[in-house]
Amino acid sequence: RMEERLLAARFRYINQQLYTSTSREAAQLFQSDPEAFEIYHRGFAQQVGRWPENPVHRIIRYLRRRPASLVVADFGCGDCKIASSIKNKVHSFDVVPLSPLVTICDMAKVPLADESVDIAVFCLALMGTNLQEILEEANRVLKQGGTLMVAEVASRFEDTRAFVNAMAQLGFKSVSK
Ligand code: SAH
Repeated sequence: RMEERLLAARFRYINQQLYTSTSREAAQLFQSDPEAFEIYHRGFAQQVGRWPENPVHRIIRYLRRRPASLVVADFGCGDCKIASSIKNKVHSFDVVPLSPLVTICDMAKVPLADESVDIAVFCLALMGTNLQEILEEANRVLKQGGTLMVAEVASRFEDTRAFVNAMAQLGFKSVSK
């Protein structure tokens, strides 16, 4: 039990580091310290496992209702649950490969052409302080009329309405919350 509590504490510490640094620093942290990445992912899975619903499952259900021809980009994909659950072409981006389906990169700079995807997903992954740069990158790769999906814990937002307004300034229209 002691080991489990230590793991939970280290997870919280790393999680806090991710939310208070830029996405580039987060990428460097995980690439230079594979143990931190391993602890983070074990802690993440443990925490999400206690929630009544894992948001990634809800996103997968939504994607399954849309045409399989739509191209998806999964920013901060973790173990690639989305790519391994749907027929669509999915570009899975993360800083360290938990699965062979991952393309390793910082989510603020993904190797995709402008306007090349229909749906961009950030499931519990919109963490860097360079939020604007990350969302602009999603905007760049999304086609006109494409869909951005964000799942994040409510406590992370000081003011959800302000977030939605800032998103509008980046060119996104809120269709569902
Ligand atoms: N979306 C997955 C995993 C969420 S955990 C799910 O819902 O199951 C957050 C993920 O974001 C982790 O896998 C972490 O490695 C990744 N991540 C953190 N910073 C990143 C960055 N700068 N660029 C790409 N991925 C990043």
